[in-house]
Amino acid sequence: MNSSNRLLDGPDCQIRAVGRAESLELLYISGSGRSGSTLVERLLHASPRFVAVGEFHVLWRLPHDQITCSCGLSLPDDPFWQGVLADAGIGPAECADLARRETQVARTARIAQAGFRLDRLRDDPEVTAFLAPQFAIMAAVVRAAGKPILVDSSKAGPRAWLLATAPASRMLHLWRHPSDVIASWRSRKFDAGLGTDMARPGVPAAAADWWKVEQLARRLAREHPVAMLDYGRLCADPAPVLAAALKAAGITGDAEIPWLDTNRVTPGGNYHSLNGNPDRFNRGPITVSARRVDWSRQQPLDRAVIPAVGGTLAALYPRPGGGQDR
Ligand SMILES: [Zn+2]
Repeated sequence: MNSSNRLLDGPDCQIRAVGRAESLELLYISGSGRSGSTLVERLLHASPRFVAVGEFHVLWRLPHDQITCSCGLSLPDDPFWQGVLADAGIGPAECADLARRETQVARTARIAQAGFRLDRLRDDPEVTAFLAPQFAIMAAVVRAAGKPILVDSSKAGPRAWLLATAPASRMLHLWRHPSDVIASWRSRKFDAGLGTDMARPGVPAAAADWWKVEQLARRLAREHPVAMLDYGRLCADPAPVLAAALKAAGITGDAEIPWLDTNRVTPGGNYHSLNGNPDRFNRGPITVSARRVDWSRQQPLDRAVIPAVGGTLAALYPRPGGGQDR
């Protein structure tokens, strides 16, 4: 009996023994906010091989009545998610436990304490206890969707490290030029799920978010395969660039994304994405096209500061594969 079996059967975690990290195929998308993760997960969900769930970690980070699924239903009213949680044996107490455990283990300081070593994190019983109920939920999602590979686009850097300890985890990191990311954060965007505008962090907070996830992904790439996907290249030539990134992440075989033409895909049905960019509510064909920042609409101070900050960050962590244009 391996350690995760013992945990699942133990009194500390009374969940049904249905989640096995060993067998669950997972693709984790890391990256800064506004780096294209919702676009990528929608493209993947169009395939019969991938089921995308959005930012999975909101299941324990947010009160469930504040989560609007991409199907349009509030989480407590959503038969898909209620069926999944019941199948996995997860209720409010388990979600509260996940939230408590996350604050302890999904932290950069904790990963540094483990010497940035996946084997040490893998042997950490608190990491196992945090991940086991999640794999039970993920396994229930895979069963309910009838698709083999789960896509979690929570994006957070420490979470990438923890999930990378599971044998069948694949890592995809999105890189978007920091100037464009910060400018996007500073632009107004309405979120139909929240019923209000999305948060608009200041330039330092947006820059720090980009830097934190970038340095954790680059460090992880020394320990585990991490496919680096450049948002600019994806927009310029979607199908081959996405196929190459999936291959680099370790996904074998054809991704089976049903491209209508060079940059459009019919969205997949039964799409239950928990959180992310409001584009997840769109029902029409997914169109991949570069979103250019309209600098004329930026505040004068931002127009001056963002390129300087973004240029500095891009010099520290350059575009994967090289090249200057974006
Ligand atoms: Zn739903």
